[in-house]
Amino acid sequence: MSQTDDAEDYAGLPEATARPKVRIVQLLCPKRHCIVATAYESPDGEMLPEMTVRLREGFEEMVQKGANPWCGICQSRDLRPEDQPTVFATMVEAWPFLAENARLQAEAAKFFKASKG
Ligand SMILES: [Zn+2]
Repeated sequence: MSQTDDAEDYAGLPEATARPKVRIVQLLCPKRHCIVATAYESPDGEMLPEMTVRLREGFEEMVQKGANPWCGICQSRDLRPEDQPTVFATMVEAWPFLAENARLQAEAAKFFKASKG
């Protein structure tokens, strides 16, 4: 059996390695400050490009309603999406982590808002 045959065998069994995964898609500035983020369950663990589109659309709506289209910490307007898998398979499993992360983000946002006077 050649190397090519092996590769074909693996390619023929995608369901053997495909596992559901919670992924986080964020809008980040170059210094990696998170502007907005959302989590979703991917049935096969792979990135769903439409989630990046939805995050951008949601952010555009926030900007229309008065949110700043730049990073509140470093003022960069170079905001780029990034989609990464987490260690969690389901939203139920991920929820305590996501809730704690959201709480810390809200605290940090409050701090930065207050420190600007
Ligand atoms: Zn920043």
